[in-house]
Amino acid sequence: MSKDKYIVILGAGESGIGTALLAKKKGYNVFVSDNGKIKKKYKDVLLNTEIEFEENTHTIERVLQADVVMKSPGIPDRISLIQHILKKGIPVISEIEFAAKYTDATIIGITGSNGKTTTTMMLYQILKTAGLNVCEGGNIGDSFAGQVAFKKYDNFVLELSSFQLDGIVNFAPHIAILTNITPDHLDRYENNFENYITSKFRITMNQTTDDYLIYDADDIEIKNWLKKHKTKAQLIPFSIHKKVTKGAFLKDNKITIILKNKPFTMSLATLAVQGNHNVKNTMAASLAATLMKVRKETIRESMENFEGAPHRLEKVLKIRGVQFINDSKATNINATYYALDSMHNPTVWIVGGEDKGNDYMELMPLVREKVKAIVCLGVDNSKIIETYRSVMPIIVETKGAEEAVKVAHKLAEKGDVVLLSPACASFDLFKNYEDRGNQFKEAILKL
Ligand code: ADP
Repeated sequence: MSKDKYIVILGAGESGIGTALLAKKKGYNVFVSDNGKIKKKYKDVLLNTEIEFEENTHTIERVLQADVVMKSPGIPDRISLIQHILKKGIPVISEIEFAAKYTDATIIGITGSNGKTTTTMMLYQILKTAGLNVCEGGNIGDSFAGQVAFKKYDNFVLELSSFQLDGIVNFAPHIAILTNITPDHLDRYENNFENYITSKFRITMNQTTDDYLIYDADDIEIKNWLKKHKTKAQLIPFSIHKKVTKGAFLKDNKITIILKNKPFTMSLATLAVQGNHNVKNTMAASLAATLMKVRKETIRESMENFEGAPHRLEKVLKIRGVQFINDSKATNINATYYALDSMHNPTVWIVGGEDKGNDYMELMPLVREKVKAIVCLGVDNSKIIETYRSVMPIIVETKGAEEAVKVAHKLAEKGDVVLLSPACASFDLFKNYEDRGNQFKEAILKL
């Protein structure tokens, strides 16, 4: 059917290459176009599979001949090329939309402002331990499309960003998880929080009454949206503040999971990862696993052994009684809120980077309670200094991971914590958050 169809793929990253391979396999005429330099490993794939491509440019005439365009999630809609394509009436879709058509596997889609990766990894670990034929993909690891092209899986656990959801038309996960919604990426949503919320809820727009939406019932934005809008999916809430009749809740330091069957509990003390945010992530993953009919013993065992993802409240080393924690993935206020909230010792806090419109006042109560000194790690730290200078005796500016670690180490005493939880993107001083976290860890090893 797709024999003579011409697909243009904009962006030759993980999702673009995966889509190119799948499209070629399905008989499409494929052209990949990237206005930057294509990474060698991806270029090699294109050359080996004889897929046509261009780099450092987009040839508009060629792009505009497409029957369908797959756009990498990194490319904003507002750029003129995309506007041109849309004006011509050519559908612009995401990798997720394209690939989902070619698999009949059960799909669990996970979105939210924070906790996507952690929840995806938790659920994957449970399903794997349960012996299911399952693949994890999307924003994490290998692309969904690439996996669909070459392997046969019965189940997919997909981490989905709002950008990927913006490009869906018919995509409908059997189980959707919405971890939370707090302001992030507003630069891509015309600085309008409502647009971003709408985008996150696209995860449920094509679900039917046979499907499920698992969500954080403590999240005010999610609650408000659900009051005003309808979804056909069965609602499965989780909460750490109130009891629910169907879903997950917290009581006496135990998580209770209650769906159709008998409820079961998990003691917080047995969970491998700590902090209220991880309690929520555990609830979400355990609910999805229960809907997938995994036994409670397997869920408990998986959560007892879950190692956590690197750069997310990752304990690095204890040096002369000072614990160093790498939370480089905290690129917004909400993530850092949970990091500070889970600190039990006086904290030297390393913060800063590229600010996506932060309101640092939101962290003020926690900063007063937990933080003894601030080490700024960014090019422009003025907002941070402005916000906290009246309450914080020590604020030091640094311009690199090594300097920040040295300064923080000097300021910390036995029993303290040095926490890198920047609340900002990393691109002003680092390649990405992994680079920031790795440089932080290397600097600690050098102390
Ligand atoms: P995402 O993939 O959505 O960015 P991650 O699991 O990578 O989420 O975590 C990103 C940051 O958010 C980390 O700093 C982590 O400690 C924090 N975090 C994880 N889960 C949650 C949650 N449920 N709520 C708030 N913050 C969270």
